[in-house]
Amino acid sequence: MILTIHLLVSFILAIILYRSYSYLVLFIFLGGFLIDIDHPLYYLIRFKSFNLKKAYSYFMEIGKRNDLRSYESVIRIFHNIETFFVLLIFSFFSKEVLMILIGFILHISLDMISEYRYFSCLRNYSLLRSLIKKQKPL
Ligand SMILES: [Zn+2]
Repeated sequence: MILTIHLLVSFILAIILYRSYSYLVLFIFLGGFLIDIDHPLYYLIRFKSFNLKKAYSYFMEIGKRNDLRSYESVIRIFHNIETFFVLLIFSFFSKEVLMILIGFILHISLDMISEYRYFSCLRNYSLLRSLIKKQKPL
């Protein structure tokens, strides 16, 4: 998913919820935008480089090539069902985490739409399953 779309949609949601949640809407950006930090972290570990522009190009190329095998092989420490459940549990105790969860759900929904558009299917969303059944990229 294009980062500017995540940022824009998070911003629109923050405006909509601002009257009810005030400054807490800033936490929407953590779940709605900043969770994509796991992409450059993966790139850093795999290629020993923290070049954000190259990392962004790498992931966009995978999408353009419809390279589902490479896409599935990427370990995303925040884009998974385990993160969702951790946020869900803590959201009962913290409004800040609830805002992060709302942004997270929005972010993952947009990613799923984008993935389906590129690959005509959805990837594995379990971090545990990814770690157990790690596929090597081609
Ligand atoms: Zn994402």
